[in-house]
Amino acid sequence: MRTFSQWIGAVIISLYPKSRVEGIRVIFTDIAVDRAECVARIHRAVNAMQVAGKPYKSLISRIRYIVIWPGNRTFADNAGGIHIASGDLLGIDELALASVFVHESVHLRIGARGIKYDPACRERIERLCIEVQARFLRNTPGRGEEMAREAEAVLAFPWWTREERESDLERLLDEHQLPKWLRAVVPRS
Ligand SMILES: [Zn+2]
Repeated sequence: MRTFSQWIGAVIISLYPKSRVEGIRVIFTDIAVDRAECVARIHRAVNAMQVAGKPYKSLISRIRYIVIWPGNRTFADNAGGIHIASGDLLGIDELALASVFVHESVHLRIGARGIKYDPACRERIERLCIEVQARFLRNTPGRGEEMAREAEAVLAFPWWTREERESDLERLLDEHQLPKWLRAVVPRS
C-alpha cells in the first residue's frame, strides 16, 4: 500500500512531462531542458550498461524511474528512483553517465535490502558503489581504465562525512582536483 507521501509524490510527478527509456520512466522536473537530448543520453548510457553484461543488466532492473531536476546533485531515493541534476546529465560524456547510473543503482540495490544510509554505514556503502562503478569502467575499452582509477582515487577523500558542508565541499573538490565527471557522484548519498 502506498503511504500518503508516496501518494502525494505520485500526484506531483503526474504533472511533469515524462518519457520512457528501456522500460524506465523518465520524469522531467527541470522543464527547461532539451528533453530529446536527455532521453538520447540516458538511452546510450543504459545501452552501455546492457552490453557490459549480466550484473549491469540486473542493476538496470533496479531503476524504476529517473528524475531530471534543475538542482546540483545526483542521488538515489528509497523508491527505486535516480534523481540526476540536468547539469550532470548534459555535462558529462556517455561512459561517465553510464558509470554514474551504475553507482546510483548499487545504492538502489543496497536500499532495497533495507540497509539505510546511516552515518555508520556510509563509508562501506560508498566504497561498494565505487568498487562496482570502477569495475564497470574497467570493462570498457578506451578511457575506461583511466576513469576507473580516478573513481577509486576519490575514496581517499571521505566526502560522505562532509555533506553538511556544501560550500566547503566545493573548495575541497577543487583542492583534490576531482574530475568534473566524478563530481556527479561525490557530493551526495
Ligand atoms: Zn554514492
